[in-house]
Amino acid sequence: MCRIGILFLDREFEHDVYELIKAFYPEAEIHTSYSEDDEEYDICFRIGREDDSYLIRYKSKEHNGTASAAVIEGHSRENNTDALISCKTTLRKQNKDVLKYSLYQVLHKLTGRTLPWGNLTGIRPAKLAMGMIESGMKNTEAAKVMRDSYLVSPQKAALAITIANREREILKNIDYENGYSLYVGIPFCPSICLYCSFSSYPLKQWQKKVDDYLDALCKEIREVSAMMRGRKLDTIYIGGGTPTTLEPDQLRRLLTALGEAFTYEGLEEFTIEAGRPDSITREKLEAIQEFPVSRISVNPQTMNQQTLDIIGRRHTVEQTREAFLLARELGYNNINMDLIVGLPGEDISMVKNTLGQIRSLDPDSLTVHSLAVKRAARLNMFKDQYQEMTFENNQEIMDMTMRAAYEMEMGPYYLYRQKNMKGNFENVGYAKVDKAGIYNILIMEEKQPIIALGAGGSSKLVFDHGQRIERVENVKDVTNYITRIDEMIERKRTGITAWL
Ligand code: SF4
Repeated sequence: MCRIGILFLDREFEHDVYELIKAFYPEAEIHTSYSEDDEEYDICFRIGREDDSYLIRYKSKEHNGTASAAVIEGHSRENNTDALISCKTTLRKQNKDVLKYSLYQVLHKLTGRTLPWGNLTGIRPAKLAMGMIESGMKNTEAAKVMRDSYLVSPQKAALAITIANREREILKNIDYENGYSLYVGIPFCPSICLYCSFSSYPLKQWQKKVDDYLDALCKEIREVSAMMRGRKLDTIYIGGGTPTTLEPDQLRRLLTALGEAFTYEGLEEFTIEAGRPDSITREKLEAIQEFPVSRISVNPQTMNQQTLDIIGRRHTVEQTREAFLLARELGYNNINMDLIVGLPGEDISMVKNTLGQIRSLDPDSLTVHSLAVKRAARLNMFKDQYQEMTFENNQEIMDMTMRAAYEMEMGPYYLYRQKNMKGNFENVGYAKVDKAGIYNILIMEEKQPIIALGAGGSSKLVFDHGQRIERVENVKDVTNYITRIDEMIERKRTGITAWL
């Protein structure tokens, strides 16, 4: 395994530098340090400032050199604090951009590789495109900046611009200043998937705690609704975990409490993830239909049984089909399906099989994820066991998923990236006309606050028209959430009061 050392003499953009190097060397063991050490590395990077530029020094067996990235200027001395802050922010961004541009060129020289998303290390490329379009740039100009300044491939730049425009259209009725959205987390699942990095608990072991969890959650719902009075609730998203692990009466209890506290009038969208097919029953779907839920998600991830068995989903392909068809039979007219490419052992023909089967079901939207193996996932923790497995994802597979979506009359409407994605690709949501998930866009574009309730909920409060985001976190652990619910409510009160 290749060993890389990064010496940070300047730590300002440490995270971006690390992520970019990691993207070029996904399999390498990377060590960071802040003063010279005696370790031997295959490649060494030294990142620091000298006078009026950043310097990137690199040394490998074959290469040895320095790249310089300029900018670094003093900032405006105007006596206007707002102007000063905005000036500093702009300058910081310029500094980051030049440093990443130069580093990308160095890494390209060392590896001969390019990355589909160029030197962008963030998870929201469409937000960058959206910002440029909102500032008055034409699509062609924004695409050129993405290609030339951020080294994004022409294909990905076009994708980001297309999505940004569709997002603008979908969000045109959303009130950013007075509106907000709500996320409600149900952290239980029928079993824990191999790649899962959410805080999710196997229902069997936690069954006895579910009612206590709902008690705490309903308390948080009531208290937070009082804090948000007078604001417009635009969308609700109940996710997890798997919300449909709740029994029909528990679902009724939750949905009644939400409706009484927040009122469902004027909602633009109300989604419940019925993610795992093995949690879906007729009685649960009927219970949900007693409320104005407008969208559900039935997630196959793959339609190959052998992969489902490997990734610990513990349900069959047939159960996915049955759950989907049952929802259709009951009249659900906006059903999303999630799938993952790059799953262990899956090659292009297996992805093709999944797409063919999804097509025959004809969902209203499809979200295509590239596998991202996060640190907390069992797939990462027990990686030695899966060493023999291939994890295949490439542009051909991504193109195939896009073609399949187009054939189902869906277009791309939201996009995000994650750390450690196989092949450095992206997750894309496709939807038919009027079937896009508005909440999905709102969480990516960070235009309005999202108040998250339940264990592991991370609320985002948007300040200064989207210039600054503050988070308020709930504890992840279910027992802690139940016993410390008053503390969670007070955390929210402090955050929301500052935001109001
Ligand atoms: S269904 Fe989703 S939340 Fe539940 S274990 Fe699987 S990946 Fe995690």
